[in-house]
Formats: sequence, structure tokens, C-alpha cells
Amino acid sequence: MYAQALNAVLERLAAAARDAGRPVPRLLAVSKTHPATAVAEMASALRAAAASGTTVTAVAPGPAFGENYVQEALAKQQALTPGKTLEWHLIGHLQSNKAREAAAAFDWVQTVDRDKLVAALARHRPDGLPPLNVLVQVNIDDEAGKHGCTPGQVPALAVAIAAQPRLLLRGLMAIPAPHPDLERRREAFIRMKALFDALATQHPQVDTLSMGMSEDIELAVAEGATMVRVGTALFGRRD
Ligand SMILES: *Cc1c(COP(=O)(O)O)cnc(C)c1O
Repeated sequence: MYAQALNAVLERLAAAARDAGRPVPRLLAVSKTHPATAVAEMASALRAAAASGTTVTAVAPGPAFGENYVQEALAKQQALTPGKTLEWHLIGHLQSNKAREAAAAFDWVQTVDRDKLVAALARHRPDGLPPLNVLVQVNIDDEAGKHGCTPGQVPALAVAIAAQPRLLLRGLMAIPAPHPDLERRREAFIRMKALFDALATQHPQVDTLSMGMSEDIELAVAEGATMVRVGTALFGRRD
């Protein structure tokens, strides 16, 4: 049921990467508000796409899903046994009192934006699991009331994460202001890429720049996204 929408997104990614002369980014399927059955169907479509060999880098090393709420993700994982064969990314704001559950339920947390969260996630990452992959969320447009650290806070936060053996610093994530003028969004993506390049010189394990959603994946890929987070273009409109 999702093959057509998935192929359209994969074609957009491939075309954008070709035009920009950049690698095809990894595709994170944002499944928030959609039921576990939709996740299962999308996982099948992603596996079929990987097997067919087109734009494999977008769907390797396996299906990955993004969720905004810890409880919603847990419910889907339980419904989907063996849901653990999928890769789960937290892309919504994380309260410190949910850090214990998040550290056990997710493979990646993309929304780390303060020291307190670094310590809590490190303390609660279960010993039997590999280190938790972490992205620093940046409030790149300096929007009032939005989550994410300032660009100036990135280096210290990155050092704090890198010092934690139970965490693996992978890079940066941003949700630019949804400016109707796409060129204004491009400026935010360019600033993120510069921050990302600077971070990578300090931390060689950094390889992930998560930016771009259904509306603006071409722009994000053109400016250097290595992971795009796509909901609507894959699953259809949310209620
Ligand atoms: C919902 C969401 C997305 C997906 O947005 P679409 O416009 O539906 O593709 C991506 N990133 C974050 C952080 C989100 O909350």
C-alpha cells in the first residue's frame, strides 16, 4: 500500500542528490499518529525497496522510524513484536523524567539540547544495549519558545556527550522555522551545515546531519543533509 509513496520519496531523494552532487541521505520514516499496522506495512515497503537495489543508501541498514512521544513509540513497539528489529528514533522533545524510558526504547535520540538530558540518558541506557546514538538539536532560527540549544552551545554539549561511554555522538538535528519562502529555509540549512562541518572536525565519529521534512527535502539535501525525516509524503496527511 505504501510502495508508491515510498518510491516517489526515494526518487525525490535520488534526484536531489544527483542535482547537488551529494550522497543520497538516509530516510527516516516519521510514523507519529499512524498505527503500528502502518509501521509494519511501511517496514515491508522499505525492505522491498532495499532489496530492489534502487537508492539503497536511503533505506540501509534497515527500516528506521521516527516518533515524537515516548509512550506512543512504546505502544507501537509492543504491538509490533518483534518491533525491536526496527530502528527507532525519538524526534520529539524529551522531558528529563522520561529519559529512563527513552534510553531503553530508542536506538537514537535526536533531540538532546541540554546537559541534564545528557546525564540522564547516559545513566539510564541499559547495559545490554549498544551506546545510544545522539544528535544535538539546534534552535537554528532562534525561535522563541522552541526547543533546541543555541548554535553557541553546541561545542560544549558535544563534549559532554562524547565523554559518556553509554552515548555515541552522531551529529546535529534541526527543525528550521516553517517559513513559506523556501529560500529562507535554505539559509537555515546552510547555517546547520557549517555547524555540522565544524563539529565533525572536533569529533571524527560525527556523520549525521538530520534536516529536511516532506516539504523541503530537496533543499535540505542540496545543503548537505545526511538524514531526512519524512512523514506526510510517506504516510499521507495526519489527522
Ligand atoms: C512530524 C515531524 C517530521 C515529519 O514532518 P512531515 O512534514 O510530515 O514530513 C519531521 N521531523 C519532526 C521533528 C517532526 O516532528
